[in-house]
Amino acid sequence: MIVYSVPVPVHIVQHPLVQDALVTLRDARTGPQEFRRTATRVSVLLAAEAMRDLPTDSRVVETPLGPAEGRAVAGDVVVVPVLRAGLGMLEAVLGLIPGARVGHLGLQRDETTAVASQYYSKLPAGLEASYVLMIDPMLATGGSAVAGLDLLWRAGARNVRIACIVAAPEGVALVESRYPDVHIYTPVVDQGLNARKFIVPGLGDFGDRLYGTL
Ligand code: URA
Repeated sequence: MIVYSVPVPVHIVQHPLVQDALVTLRDARTGPQEFRRTATRVSVLLAAEAMRDLPTDSRVVETPLGPAEGRAVAGDVVVVPVLRAGLGMLEAVLGLIPGARVGHLGLQRDETTAVASQYYSKLPAGLEASYVLMIDPMLATGGSAVAGLDLLWRAGARNVRIACIVAAPEGVALVESRYPDVHIYTPVVDQGLNARKFIVPGLGDFGDRLYGTL
């Protein structure tokens, strides 16, 4: 866990399988089919890490050989993909947490100014006590992340964490300054942003690589 200038925890997920998936995603030769599969693979591991604090209840079930005590997830989980790139992580999270509710946020960044504007928002009701996981693979300027967090905050969400696949120091710093309680889960914090606000070295445009719209 890296602690930046103000105490926002950035959890660097260093699992070898996460790092293996990341290098495949970064590789410019990886086509959309493998990119999608790999995005799912890394997202499962990131989501598992981001949900480590989920509460559980004790439960007794009958195995074929008798009763067994276990634990079952007790909290309400809401997963919020930021369209469109966040959709590349959604299936993975729902595979892991089938009972999760899903909200969608459409945030578009202006290609020249990199300022995020909202074009769609559909969030489940009653987020106050929910464990909310916002998924947005590229935490670049942090503009979309903060716009998403603003919407979630206004909708009542108070326990929010972000899972991304590549983060930039600029994005981490902006989230830190605006939402000091939001934990960020990422395999890596890269060098920084280029003039077009892309993460360097990053992996390019995540949505374009995911959907083959390059
Ligand atoms: N969005 C992307 O898809 N890639 C970046 O590098 C930055 C934002």
